[in-house]
Amino acid sequence: MKVSFKDLGLVNTREMFKKAVKGGYAVPAFNFNNMEQLQAIIKAAATEKSPVILQVSKGARNYANQTLLRYMAQGAVEYAKELGWKKPQICLHLDHGDSYELCKSCVDFGFSSVMIDGSALPYEENIALTKKVVKYAHKYDVTVEAELGVLAGVEDEVASEESHYTKPEEVIDFATRTGCDSLAISIGTSHGAYKFKPEQCTRDPKTGRLVPPPLAFDVLRQVEKKLPGFPIVLHGSSSVPQEYVDIINANGGKLPDAVGIPEEQLRKAAKSAVCKINIDSDSRLAFTAAVRKVFNDKPAEFDPRKYCGPARDLMTELYTHKIVNVLGSNNKAK
Ligand SMILES: [Zn+2]
Repeated sequence: MKVSFKDLGLVNTREMFKKAVKGGYAVPAFNFNNMEQLQAIIKAAATEKSPVILQVSKGARNYANQTLLRYMAQGAVEYAKELGWKKPQICLHLDHGDSYELCKSCVDFGFSSVMIDGSALPYEENIALTKKVVKYAHKYDVTVEAELGVLAGVEDEVASEESHYTKPEEVIDFATRTGCDSLAISIGTSHGAYKFKPEQCTRDPKTGRLVPPPLAFDVLRQVEKKLPGFPIVLHGSSSVPQEYVDIINANGGKLPDAVGIPEEQLRKAAKSAVCKINIDSDSRLAFTAAVRKVFNDKPAEFDPRKYCGPARDLMTELYTHKIVNVLGSNNKAK
């Protein structure tokens, strides 16, 4: 049975992005797979009155079940209202759709936005696939994110050894011919908790920690010049907070040299045409840090609420921090 996202109380990204580009902030896109993550995202967004994108990868959809996901998103809207958010601005988005069929299925299942990632395909094939998805999605007022340029790193099914920056000279042609609503570009962000190899970084002599190379803001500026006001998306934008990595490593974990994108670079990007910033690994790290700490401190504990609860609290803190201190999206959806 087909369901419209409008019946679930969700919104697409059109208005969200228009306001974000104009207002010089970015909308957070947080990935979720389970109830605790969803609760934490909604609590942070509702408290801060921030528009929010609930992001589901193909892997998450297989993990959680698509029917359950639909009702979780609907439940999220109701939960947000219960928390005092009168007009929740919540989008349910497919992250890295890899085929027309998957995107169509998500549109039919109540998603309000989908991404078709044809970035690994030759240019003309990327255009053809994206155009096909846009044609179907727009019939139902579902917005479409496309991608040009390749990100490095590993996240669910998405994996690439090397990154290739987006070519600014291609973006006008691509956006015009596909009709996509937003464009993910590659300017040096990367998927996962190991965004850069140690040899790509320098090392802080005081702390011994890796310092990643800066993002290619010149590429972003050229893209902005070619497509003024067009919504730009950054994937792979976790910061890999070292305090979480330290907690994990101090409690039996093993994440040597995990490194992310420094928050000041994301703050700078959020003020530009970048209006959606994807954050997944940071919440995985927060969840794992909290759970590992409980397991280590209280080995007799076996009630999942006693370790998923602290994980949820730490994720809420993380999401709130991103909204208020990094993306600046608080009080933008009252
Ligand atoms: Zn991504």
